[in-house]
Amino acid sequence: MPTAIHIEVLPARLGDCLLVECPRPSGAPWRMLVDGGPGDTWPVLEERLRHLGRSDRHVDVAVITHIDSDHIGGMLPFLSSDLAAGVGDFWFNGRTHLPGHGPGTERSVAQGESVVTALLGPAGDPLSAGATKPGDAVLPWNEAFGRGPVDTGAAGGFVEVAVPDGPTITLLSPTTARLARLADAWASALREARRERVREVEPDVLAPLDDLRRIADQRTPKDASVPNGSSIALLVEHRGASVVLGADASGDVLAAALHGLARSRGTETVAVDAFKLPHHGSRANVTAALVAAAPAAHYLVSTNGDTFHHPDDAALARVVVGAPPGPTLCFNYRTPRTERWADPGLTERHRYRVAFPDPGRADAGFVLDLPARP
Ligand SMILES: [Zn+2]
Repeated sequence: MPTAIHIEVLPARLGDCLLVECPRPSGAPWRMLVDGGPGDTWPVLEERLRHLGRSDRHVDVAVITHIDSDHIGGMLPFLSSDLAAGVGDFWFNGRTHLPGHGPGTERSVAQGESVVTALLGPAGDPLSAGATKPGDAVLPWNEAFGRGPVDTGAAGGFVEVAVPDGPTITLLSPTTARLARLADAWASALREARRERVREVEPDVLAPLDDLRRIADQRTPKDASVPNGSSIALLVEHRGASVVLGADASGDVLAAALHGLARSRGTETVAVDAFKLPHHGSRANVTAALVAAAPAAHYLVSTNGDTFHHPDDAALARVVVGAPPGPTLCFNYRTPRTERWADPGLTERHRYRVAFPDPGRADAGFVLDLPARP
């Protein structure tokens, strides 16, 4: 069968930078960029985008899932480059989209404000001193949402997004309440988010993967990060294939939205072909309930383990224990932490597979082609 959804999990160190393409019967594929990784991912992303034919350099939707540096770092040079002009719509919740942050504030893109300005702060803001240049182009921004916020409303809500001549996209996160929390902390969150974290000096301690059920059942705290909770997470469906792009979203928010969607479809769960696990496979986000809400055939993990030592064993154990039989764990880096999941004793006992980037093309990250289904 022909490919319905082509996914590239680019090497973005500790961050996310994904390219998703949905080939169409005629003409150029529909294309979505999700995040730009940390700043040093930009050369990788630029090289990838410039590799596209000159006549096919469009990106239909560019999503900036949330304001952490491991997601926006590479988006800043992208926004300042000529490539940004080829973007059909940016999906991003800027300050002006956040609810309840003061009377008289428009909940739509402020006139003249660009995505760049939103990310770098208004001129004169100490954050942006010298960073913005006057006359930044006003790029198409949240057009698919009437220029309003990208949010699902109440917990358990979801929003189907009309994409002309493209895939079916369902917004799963954030909720309005999570955006309101970000509004309260916008300035400090942005300052914190834009600071590139220093490389971890503590060595990563690898615990034995002896009893996956016990590891899966470990009680772990939920992700309390306000920016992570504001993540834009999406379900993309095209010609019978499907992928959840979990950003760094809350496991609870995602699971509730998936349950709501399943109910509306008259099903128990939302079964998908692939699931980009939230927050680089953090145990604080990948809960057993989330794995149960969207059983998948492929689980994508985007991280090289820098700084936070992701992915967590508890998160992957929950996937292996809770997924439908024979899932594949797909890593965009081969590291000591990910490689031990490929131990034949482990994969045979628990009946799962592990996949890494093509060794000859590690700079391409992990590439997955999901076939169309009749
Ligand atoms: Zn992240």
